[in-house]
Amino acid sequence: SCNVKIKEKQVDNSEISKYKGVWVYIEHSYGDIADVSYELLGIGRKLADDLGVKLAGILLGSDVKDKTKDIFEYGADQVYLVDDPVLKDYRTEAYSHCVESLVDKYKPEIMLMGATTQGRDLAGYVATKLQTGLTADCTELAIEQESRLLLQTRPAFGGNVMATIVCKESRPQMSTVRPRVMPMPEKRPGNKGEVIEEKNTLQEDDIATKILEIVSEGGGLVYLDRADIIVSGGKGVGSKENFKILQDLADVLGGTVGASRAAVEAGWMEQSRQVGQTGTTVRPKIYFALGISGAIQHLVGMQTSDVIVAINNDPDATIFNVANYGIVGDLKKIVPELTKELKKR
Ligand code: FAD
Repeated sequence: SCNVKIKEKQVDNSEISKYKGVWVYIEHSYGDIADVSYELLGIGRKLADDLGVKLAGILLGSDVKDKTKDIFEYGADQVYLVDDPVLKDYRTEAYSHCVESLVDKYKPEIMLMGATTQGRDLAGYVATKLQTGLTADCTELAIEQESRLLLQTRPAFGGNVMATIVCKESRPQMSTVRPRVMPMPEKRPGNKGEVIEEKNTLQEDDIATKILEIVSEGGGLVYLDRADIIVSGGKGVGSKENFKILQDLADVLGGTVGASRAAVEAGWMEQSRQVGQTGTTVRPKIYFALGISGAIQHLVGMQTSDVIVAINNDPDATIFNVANYGIVGDLKKIVPELTKELKKR
């Protein structure tokens, strides 16, 4: 048996008051900044204003100095920049070392990261190293005025309750948020700020991970979280072959196909297309829920879509509670008709 004790490093009150400011980790792929980082700058701005402190972006990479402009235009007052060839590719040890050093030196009270593959990896590593709390997959963030604590709300117990979590005794208070959960803020053209440049103290030889080759995934990556139109199918679609009906509708609309977990588990769609609590959170302009019952774990991943269209042969299906437009009937008959009509336009 193994007895592992993980304890948050407790910081006394006088120490806690030294931590100031809201930080957003700016995730990017060779300079191409992920939308979730801008979304976090949007909510970060609000938190910083409520606390009366500065909002900063943390930008790590190689040759990324020119990217600070966008970060300011999305609302940051400051950018902490570590620009070094060693940081060209994302590697956990190198990036976490930089973030930890920045935190030790500048002491932010809040740090936000995207709940992406990279953000989840980095946030967990950094929080463990700093011995502070981390709340993953938050859906709401707010400041409690009296205590100045960050209220971090996330679904718990399979989405049946919303839990609000606070990190009282350690700093920074760390949260991750999935893409598209927070709205994209308005850009403020011409907004400028202060760049604080720090040196990377890690040499290539200090990093155990070596990138030998980068192989891009074949077959076209699925970016469900960026799609404006999603045509999702559930168990009611009936078979893998029937998903062709959904693909035809998606093609006519310029959308992409999504799926419920039941459809993924049946082997009809790949996991990367799963919408929901254990899949992707989406917020498209139009979401079609076809043959999907509306289980809470599915709803938490799509209910903030602008317009929801549901087709289900059960008039009592829960999905109709969140749908803007509902059609009761057999999707195998209705969807081809809809596609045919749309093709005429
Ligand atoms: P069903 O619930 O079986 O619904 C099928 C629907 O199709 C029914 O409403 C039926 O009336 C309708 N239908 C049948 N035939 C037709 C037809 N011909 N035309 C029109 N309608 C028809 N689920 C997710 O989707 N995403 C997640 O991320 C996710 N995460 C989970 C995490 C946990 C911890 C757990 C416990 C569950 C999770 N689930 C998730 C599973 C979730 O609870 C449901 O089981 C699942 O969403 C059901 O999928 P479904 O609506 O496709 O299937």
